[in-house]
Amino acid sequence: AKGSGRGQVRFYTADLNARARERLQVEAQLRQALEAGEFVLHYQPQVDMKSGRIVGVEALLRWQHPQRGLLGPLQFIDVAEDSGLIVGIGRWVLEEACAQLARWRDEGLPPVRVGVNLSALQFRQPDLVDNIADVLERYGLDAEWLDLEVTESLVMEDLPQTTALLEAMHALGVSLSIDDFGTGYSSLAYLKRLKAGTLKIDRSFVKDLPHDADDAAITRTVISMAASLNMRVVAEGVETRAQWALLAAEGCDTVQGYFCSKPVPAGDCARLLRSGSRV
Ligand code: C2E
Ligand code: CA
Ligand code: CA
Ligand code: CA
Repeated sequence: AKGSGRGQVRFYTADLNARARERLQVEAQLRQALEAGEFVLHYQPQVDMKSGRIVGVEALLRWQHPQRGLLGPLQFIDVAEDSGLIVGIGRWVLEEACAQLARWRDEGLPPVRVGVNLSALQFRQPDLVDNIADVLERYGLDAEWLDLEVTESLVMEDLPQTTALLEAMHALGVSLSIDDFGTGYSSLAYLKRLKAGTLKIDRSFVKDLPHDADDAAITRTVISMAASLNMRVVAEGVETRAQWALLAAEGCDTVQGYFCSKPVPAGDCARLLRSGSRV
């Protein structure tokens, strides 16, 4: 028994080593990716349920890896966060999303809100608000077209500090969205204080609609609660017509999901925006 125990330890150690080595490798490659220009943003439309028009897009990070192809954030965002590299990457995302917004404006496209995800570490950078103000000024953008997405768990972490930060952003005039709503433990009282304009209902509550009665009750409650707090609601991960129909019946404002469009490169997104595409 002793022997096999030791063998097991060795097995786990080898396994851990392999994983640690892979992480180190990803980290080393991530370090160069920014300079090498390997990051791109894809954009996923957010569609107004009443008009069927695109009213916003969420910028979603992709890594064009020289060997492994196009990688989604789930394949590298943890390493980026743990290594601190997310701060520089996040800065690039903010810069690029604003640059894209300015390009679309200059091409005469109707204005849309662009959602940018903020990571926890990025959120704790003392110069974040100055950085946002600087980017907006350089591109001559109205602050309201930038929508900063922060997760519910992030804003609940260090409330006094978070509240102050969100107030500073609010003062700049940028829009704020609470991402992955429903997965954390926000209370109504806090929600009001956060000054966010939008709640994004997490996909986990949408995916089993319309069949799951609990999820239907939850989405209905969030929608009516948001309405009474004068907040907009975006339902995430809408994949089917039946989900769309249920959310429309519940009075949801906006949806985002494969049913409308997957995240697409900027050029494809511009075509969707130009066609004033209706779903
Ligand atoms: P998120 O902010 O909740 O973004 C929505 C995710 O759901 C995206 O995954 C999107 O592609 C996916 N999605 C949208 N509609 C559907 C649908 O109908 N069905 C399904 N199954 N999925 C759908 P993605 O692009 O892989 O991003 C994953 C997460 O990575 C994001 O979740 C966000 O937390 C993070 N992320 C993405 N871009 C950035 C970034 O620039 N900075 C930071 N800090 N995090 C980012
Ligand atoms: Ca998001
Ligand atoms: Ca989300
Ligand atoms: Ca999520």
